[in-house]
Amino acid sequence: MSTKSHLRQPNRELTDAAEIAAILKEGKHAVLAMCNDNEPYIVTLTYGYDSTKNALYFHCGATGHKIQFIKANPRVCATVFQDKGFTPGSCTYTYKSVVMRGSIAIVECPEEKRHAIETLIDQIWTRATPEDRERATSEKSIAGTTVLRLDIEDIVGKKGP
Ligand SMILES: Cc1cc2nc3c(=O)[nH]c(=O)nc-3n(C[C@H](O)[C@H](O)[C@H](O)COP(=O)(O)OP(=O)(O)OC[C@H]3O[C@@H](n4cnc5c(N)ncnc54)[C@H](O)[C@@H]3O)c2cc1C
Repeated sequence: MSTKSHLRQPNRELTDAAEIAAILKEGKHAVLAMCNDNEPYIVTLTYGYDSTKNALYFHCGATGHKIQFIKANPRVCATVFQDKGFTPGSCTYTYKSVVMRGSIAIVECPEEKRHAIETLIDQIWTRATPEDRERATSEKSIAGTTVLRLDIEDIVGKKGP
């Protein structure tokens, strides 16, 4: 089910797919909203964006509140933003953000898990040494890491002002 909506202020909407992709590529944290039995839950997670798959990858522990919610209801909403702060000499607050909706899945395939960890390292661990990368992508480490993939079904970008 698509719940795509449009901005109340259309002049603020980002219509360039490359600009929206850049927000996802440059971001490090997504705020992920979930819902189960009419109960909301929200967490901040680091992510890696795969533009080919149009998906965000997350890594986390195997258990916990978040995993329970995702298993009960994979439909999620997430936001990523760039915060540029107040513009000097004016009352405007400058930002770019996206709100995306989609489904989240627990990735089981070891090859895709490795790809996800590499995508995460490239995006959020830019100072990783070759040894760090080797450790993080070892068979043992991958087996012990839970990987989530958020398949983006629709996304709206906004800039302010
Ligand atoms: C900048 C940032 C980046 C993060 N990156 C990751 C990541 O990449 N992977 C990852 O797994 N986690 C990350 N976290 C932590 C994440 O927000 C969750 O705390 C974590 O995923 C555990 O979620 P859970 O539902 O399994 O926790 P549980 O321990 O099962 O949660 C139990 C209860 O604790 C409370 N709680 C859970 N998380 C938080 C929190 N962060 N702050 C306050 N209360 C909380 C909630 O009320 C929840 O119901 C990050 C947090 C921040 C701030």
